[in-house]
Amino acid sequence: MRIANLSGRLVLIVGDRAVDVEETSAGRFSADPQAVYERWEEFRAWAAAAKLPGGDAFDPVDLGSPAPAPRQTLAIGLNYRDHAAESGFEAPAGLPPVFTKFATGISGPVTEVALPPGGHTDWEVELVAVVGRRADNVPRAAAWDHVAGLAAGQDISERVAQLAGPAPQFSLGKSFPGFAPIGPWLVTPDEFDDPDDLELRCAVNGEEVQKGRTRDLIHSVPALIAGLSAVLPLLPGDVLFTGTPAGVGLGRDPQRFLAPGDELVSTVEGIGELRQTFVARPTRP
Ligand code: ZN
Repeated sequence: MRIANLSGRLVLIVGDRAVDVEETSAGRFSADPQAVYERWEEFRAWAAAAKLPGGDAFDPVDLGSPAPAPRQTLAIGLNYRDHAAESGFEAPAGLPPVFTKFATGISGPVTEVALPPGGHTDWEVELVAVVGRRADNVPRAAAWDHVAGLAAGQDISERVAQLAGPAPQFSLGKSFPGFAPIGPWLVTPDEFDDPDDLELRCAVNGEEVQKGRTRDLIHSVPALIAGLSAVLPLLPGDVLFTGTPAGVGLGRDPQRFLAPGDELVSTVEGIGELRQTFVARPTRP
């Protein structure tokens, strides 16, 4: 099953068409895409049994994040060995670094993003998992049962802000407006042959800059759910950015960062693509 946020309304994606959930369920489920995760099991059962209408054609520009307002967004650093190496860090032995992307940065899959003036804005294609059932100290073997689905994500990162100061500012440097595109929709784990082995790719102006597979995650999705939920409960609708493989601009020689006019396309196998174009942000008057 695929669900999406079309112009702020929860829809099921059937083929290439969108079926409005509130209308089709005669009001049983609300149009609010974020609210569905509170009743995820009930919603899944309804969607599996419902006789769905044909749906409507739509433009991906009108899609929002399938989880537009999570109570918590947890993002993982240094979760692929090749990326940890290019960043100049040892791969962490215990839990990897965890930071947040503040919720105002979350967007849909097709957007225009303003570049912070004086910054070095970089790309990080990532698999995103959305929590479908509260996870409180769950064992790894049960972790997938707590995942509603998977989406593509971009952990866009402004490196000057991220790395300034006595302690790195990961959360701020990664939370400028539009820095957390998610989508194009949420795909339930049962739709994949192996949800633990998906190819991630990212291209700038058509040139491939990142290519990896989630089987190479140091901490897999189940390991992250288990490890994080041992510290704090993960709530329905929470968003988990799982980390990026090698090939970010910071790790290149010479380094490369996004410029006005650049187009970034990020793809996760079996899910779909994100498309960001970058513009200069006017300086403060
Ligand atoms: Zn990241």
